[in-house]
Amino acid sequence: MPEGDTVWRTAARLHEALAGERLERADLRWPSLATADVRGARTLEVRSRGKHLLHRLDTGLTLHSHLRMEGQWRIEATAALTPRLLTNDQLRALLGTTRWTALGLRLGMLDLVATDAEDSLVGHLGPDVLGPDWDPQRAAANLAASQETIGAALLDQRTLAGVGTMYAAESLFLERLGPWTPAASLAAPTIAGLVERAHRLLDTGRRSAIQSTTGSTRRGETTFVHGRSGRPCRRCGTTVRVAMVGAPPQERTMFYCPGCQGGLGPTDVGRPQRPLGATAPTTFPNRRRGPTG
Ligand SMILES: [Zn+2]
Repeated sequence: MPEGDTVWRTAARLHEALAGERLERADLRWPSLATADVRGARTLEVRSRGKHLLHRLDTGLTLHSHLRMEGQWRIEATAALTPRLLTNDQLRALLGTTRWTALGLRLGMLDLVATDAEDSLVGHLGPDVLGPDWDPQRAAANLAASQETIGAALLDQRTLAGVGTMYAAESLFLERLGPWTPAASLAAPTIAGLVERAHRLLDTGRRSAIQSTTGSTRRGETTFVHGRSGRPCRRCGTTVRVAMVGAPPQERTMFYCPGCQGGLGPTDVGRPQRPLGATAPTTFPNRRRGPTG
């Protein structure tokens, strides 16, 4: 799932391609926007706020989108658009200038609102980790005031905006915090350290083409615990595990190391977990014994 750094990079790419230009072509394939027409509008800017994208137009309107689980914005040269791209049934939005066309695929949300009413869509968000108005003190205060576990609080976009399951898991691992620890029980310097860690990881991510919290861009080595259940912890060798954090229906997956992060989580029954992507346990065919045994 795209996290704040990916959304920030998406906004930057859209801004670079579209800002200052008029939309010659626009097609919003979204039920509530069936009659909306933004053709002729000029793009002022495209910005991210947490995991939300705000595409501001000179007509006083903002096209808001969210990638949710697997959405993306692709940018193609307008001259190179093919019928196949335009008839893609996952296409939810098309915004084209004479030069570039942005294609919104599998988007999770799409809205058109007055720019001065953006808060109706993003006003609930806590401080944006990658925003120009990032406020670590307010983020820490929100975490400290949460009634949730620290894992769930970190993922709650109202607490701070931009952290998803990957950066939450990696930040908690690096700070050696159990994801199921009640947020309110943590000391102020601990929370401040966690907030700073999350910010540093996302800030590094937005500047890099490949997300990595370990410094390695090698496949399979870009995280400490996220996506690594069933494999040994890079720090202590304990098998990394995955369990759920947060209350239903907001439950999310959380990868963690019981060795480094205070033992098994309360939602983890301790069943053996195979590495992700692994199939049935490898069985070796019995070696046939030679005549001499
Ligand atoms: Zn460990």
